[in-house]
Amino acid sequence: MNNRGFDKGIKRDFSRSPLLTFWEVTRACDLVCVHCRAEAQPDRDPGELTTQEGIELIDSILGFGDPLPILVLTGGDPLKREDRKSVV
Ligand code: SF4
Repeated sequence: MNNRGFDKGIKRDFSRSPLLTFWEVTRACDLVCVHCRAEAQPDRDPGELTTQEGIELIDSILGFGDPLPILVLTGGDPLKREDRKSVV
């Protein structure tokens, strides 16, 4: 049995923790589509979380406990972050 909350019988208290969490790790994306919901731009935004801030964000998500929320890393293009291996 996993702890993803999709299995029958696993009760999740949504007043205590979410099922899904999303971190838009960067607004940078080389395609810069005009329809982009993330309002992507060619380079990273200086206001993006640092590596340490990102790790602290992930630690705070761990604080929700079991069953853990699913963390989706999105953007922009997450591959534009030089620290992606550290974050993952
Ligand atoms: S993140 Fe997706 S929608 Fe946005 S610019 Fe890049 S490819 Fe286009």
